[in-house]
Amino acid sequence: MDIFKSFTIEAAHRLPNVPPGHKCARLHGHSFVVELHVSGEPGADSGWVMDFGDIKAAFRPLYEQLDHHYLNEIGGLENPTSERLATWIWERLQPALPQLSEVVVRETCTSGCRYRGP
Ligand SMILES: [Zn+2]
Repeated sequence: MDIFKSFTIEAAHRLPNVPPGHKCARLHGHSFVVELHVSGEPGADSGWVMDFGDIKAAFRPLYEQLDHHYLNEIGGLENPTSERLATWIWERLQPALPQLSEVVVRETCTSGCRYRGP
């Protein structure tokens, strides 16, 4: 069973390594949607894989580092593509949430990435 919880992160970024003139080189913002997936068997008594509140609590310290921040200024996010952001979240969240199975980062309604770990 796979459960997930979504978070919206308002943040600014620019991509420093794109070709000259690329629109993503300019400072701009996104309402990133981060989906955190957790896999496991539902408990016999609880009926759930995990309390959604526990996912929220585990993600909170990272959420607070990201929301309403300029991502390029955060250590490890100097080139804050969706792919790098998904990896950054995975590496910091997985130790606290060992059942983490997937991190989805959507930077627009139509563009995003999925990361299932190394
Ligand atoms: Zn962007």
